[in-house]
Amino acid sequence: MNRQTLDDLKQQIPLMGYLQAHDWHPARPLSGGRWMGLCPLHEDHQPSFLVDTNKDLFYCYGCGRGGDVIRFAELYHQVKFPQAVAWLSQWRGAEPLLHEVARFYCIQLHRHSEAVAYLYQRGIRSRALLDHMRIGYAPGGCLRGWLTQFGYSLPTLRQAGLVTGVGYDAYVRRIVFPLEDNLYGRSLSPSAPPHRFLPGSKGGLYAWKQVQSYPKVILVEGLFDYAVLWEAGFHNVTCSLGTHLNAHQFRQLCDGPRTVYLTFDADGNGSGQQAAQCLSRRLRERGTTARLVSLPDGHDPNSFFVQGGDARQFQSLLEAAQP
Ligand SMILES: [Zn+2]
Repeated sequence: MNRQTLDDLKQQIPLMGYLQAHDWHPARPLSGGRWMGLCPLHEDHQPSFLVDTNKDLFYCYGCGRGGDVIRFAELYHQVKFPQAVAWLSQWRGAEPLLHEVARFYCIQLHRHSEAVAYLYQRGIRSRALLDHMRIGYAPGGCLRGWLTQFGYSLPTLRQAGLVTGVGYDAYVRRIVFPLEDNLYGRSLSPSAPPHRFLPGSKGGLYAWKQVQSYPKVILVEGLFDYAVLWEAGFHNVTCSLGTHLNAHQFRQLCDGPRTVYLTFDADGNGSGQQAAQCLSRRLRERGTTARLVSLPDGHDPNSFFVQGGDARQFQSLLEAAQP
């Protein structure tokens, strides 16, 4: 890795842009393009993190750490220098590519009635919801051709995980939901693994920017749960894509005063409830209020609404939620 490559990388990823993409917000401006805010690297209660947008450097007066965007990525993702460089290079290239992929899959959705029928049966019916979540369909066998026509090379598509080692589309017969830096695909075929992500982090909480200012936030584990709640008018809903939150997602939930309504699946073996209790304890330790929402046995939020539950009934479940 030579000097020029590193300089190019830093030039293409301004520190402030990278911070904001990871939910950092400046609290107050100083002179000369400098900003102060809470430190994303340690538990900070008053702004001690300084960002200089002219020099593209940061320094924290609390934990004493500082440097450029690569140093930040090392500390934030807890990786070594070469991994941080690789991470940032991928991050830089992935955004326009994923945007193109999402657009292509949205067009496919309306050409495949089996996909529309599946969504209908899972309670995803309105145009507004499809647009809001940018839901698409990956039939398989056509993404690679479409993207190479736009100049994306086969190695690039392989590295992004969109195409398999032998050159086939990685997502086949899957409903796809674009995430911040990833793509979730739910299989329609019972013989394939139900859930699929691209390699790398699943990213932060779903649609967090639209949710974080609400004093009450509903957290669900799946995007189909998210969809029916959003459709029923609960726009303060977010999703962790599984019951295990990564460090980034956990920090997001704790980044301000709020009450979190944990609405995980009420599965027969109690694993959803166990995960919710564990998370509730961790949130409490960080001073965030948590409530456990109890769904009827065997239900997740999706099946609750699909089988006739309505917004008023769900509201009563929220009101009955226990600490
Ligand atoms: Zn710090």
